Amino acid sequence: GQTIGIIGGGQLGRMMALSAKEAGYKIAVLEPSMDSPCGQVADIRIVAPYDDEAALEELADVSDVITFEFENIDYEGLKRLAEIAYVPQGAELVRITQNRVTEKAAIVEAGCPVAPYIVADDYDELVNQIDKIGYPSIVKTSSGGYDGKGQQQLNSKEDLPLAKSLFEHSQCVAERFIPFEKEISVIVQRNGQGETYCLPVGENIHVHHILHETLVPARISGETYNRAVEAAKKIADRLELVGTLAVEMFVLGNGEIIINELAPRPHNSGHYSIEACNVSQFEQHIRAVCGWPLRVPKLLKPSIMVNILGQHVMPLCNSISKHADWSIHLYGKTEAKVNRKMGHVTILTDNIDDTLNEIEHSGIWSE
Ligand code: ATP
Ligand code: MG
Ligand code: MG
Repeated sequence: GQTIGIIGGGQLGRMMALSAKEAGYKIAVLEPSMDSPCGQVADIRIVAPYDDEAALEELADVSDVITFEFENIDYEGLKRLAEIAYVPQGAELVRITQNRVTEKAAIVEAGCPVAPYIVADDYDELVNQIDKIGYPSIVKTSSGGYDGKGQQQLNSKEDLPLAKSLFEHSQCVAERFIPFEKEISVIVQRNGQGETYCLPVGENIHVHHILHETLVPARISGETYNRAVEAAKKIADRLELVGTLAVEMFVLGNGEIIINELAPRPHNSGHYSIEACNVSQFEQHIRAVCGWPLRVPKLLKPSIMVNILGQHVMPLCNSISKHADWSIHLYGKTEAKVNRKMGHVTILTDNIDDTLNEIEHSGIWSE
């Protein structure tokens, strides 16, 4: 049998691994922690920092193909790995998407709209340039941010000093605040032969900058739907994508879209596809990196995915008996810290509004 190497031991790697194992692959994971969601289901565990030369060589030795489950891997390390192992996604995808400056440039080059933005290497440059985009605006570190960490909203000139600390570790971008009507995401997947498919478009509801729910299909017009899918495909082409790219977008009141950011991997907003589609984002990802033909994704039924954060685990466990139709996924993390992603629930439904009500009144997500 063949072995797939995965860089990163989180839940995305775990769900990739579970999918790959169904197709008969063995899994090797490179991961710094002794007990990780992916490590628990892997056949071979290499516990080391992501830039550890010997560990990367070991991964190359045991793997027929190597993929990754998160984008903040050491780019130089990945480039060297691609010289000694088969890394069909390449290192460029990671280089471009791990930095908001190169990412936005790629989106613009693909012909897709982004929020007006400036790049600032230091705080003084921010102060000097901010009038080009005005207020309200959002300052984001160029690299390393997630779940809204490394961001500061500025509502007026007086707020500028709040952004000072962001520059301690990183260059930043500042972008105009977009008064969007909703947020959607398109997960686009492509294999080396150029076959490209998008999963059904999801509508994302965030709470405190963390994804809370994904509703599928997104409640948008057919016109907006087509725009979103076309944009995702254009960006995938520009990046010569192999594997998976999640494209986060804002939908404006007039139905136009603006691209927010990219993630070069399966995405939280695509978890619904495990139950609600004929092919999950993880299965399709494995097919793409293994050079298999892709399947045409189809939505079997409308669905809602809800994230389970640390504070939701106990209330969920206490009410499982009431919800036979909920598909519950837990990632095997032991410490249920507040706001840590511990799992998710997917509910297939004929009535999105009723199910949204059911979720709200379950009391599980009240905190
Ligand atoms: P993720 O966990 O998705 O990687 P992140 O920390 O990289 O998050 P973004 O996706 O850039 O951050 O922003 C987080 C959220 O903040 C967005 O989903 C959106 O709700 C809001 N946001 C970000 N940029 C803007 C903007 N320009 N205008 C309005 N809202 C924004
Ligand atoms: Mg992000
Ligand atoms: Mg985001």
